[in-house]
Amino acid sequence: MTGKHIIITGPPGSGKGTQAVRIAERLGLRHMSTGDLLREAVAAKTELGLKAADYMTRGLLVPDDLMLGLIREELGADDGRGWILDGFPRTLPQAEALSDLLESNGIGIDNVVQIDVDPGVIVKRVEGRRVCGECRAVYGIATLPGGEKAGCPKCGAPLIKRSDDEEETILRRFNVYREQTEPVLDYYRKRGGKFVAVNGNGDIDDITAEIIRALK
Ligand code: ADP
Ligand code: ZN
Repeated sequence: MTGKHIIITGPPGSGKGTQAVRIAERLGLRHMSTGDLLREAVAAKTELGLKAADYMTRGLLVPDDLMLGLIREELGADDGRGWILDGFPRTLPQAEALSDLLESNGIGIDNVVQIDVDPGVIVKRVEGRRVCGECRAVYGIATLPGGEKAGCPKCGAPLIKRSDDEEETILRRFNVYREQTEPVLDYYRKRGGKFVAVNGNGDIDDITAEIIRALK
């Protein structure tokens, strides 16, 4: 038996990464985040990383052909647990290519989860977002117990601000989302039935609970 296959999407700062990790844990799914995979590639200076870094820092999308190479590789390493796909597809050509790829593997998408958040909330959240340089856990400075300087509550490593989390870049990423990723939502909406939209303005635990409920 194989687990569910879920796509999670939402604007930058919607909390989709945080929710994806939680849903993966709760449902025993593999978490595939193209953002995390790209940041790892950049840190390791792989061929993909060297090509992607500049786009990411500027808040632009990494070209589709590079993303397709990455996703093909990830799907090729399928372990049968099912997965939640976080950050892909972000363009219509990516969505179409994913449909073809999954079809040839006999896999169907069970649900598409969309997290909706107000733009004002996004700018505030992303400005205060910090990531652990070691374990990659994500935090908001407003809710860090010992403050930013105390380091990662999980492993103690220094917290860093993502290079694409500066205000100007956040706004660009939001516009890119509107222009290039929102059409993907219609693509899945038209395919019917499997669409789950949740309000992401509220409390993290409540949002997780709402998503889990909707997936049942
Ligand atoms: P967020 O959800 O906060 O926007 P992610 O971690 O998902 O951030 O992605 C960070 C960056 O990685 C994006 O702004 C983009 O440059 C690149 N990226 C991630 N996934 C894709 C994709 N499917 N297509 C193109 N670029 C991508
Ligand atoms: Zn850490």
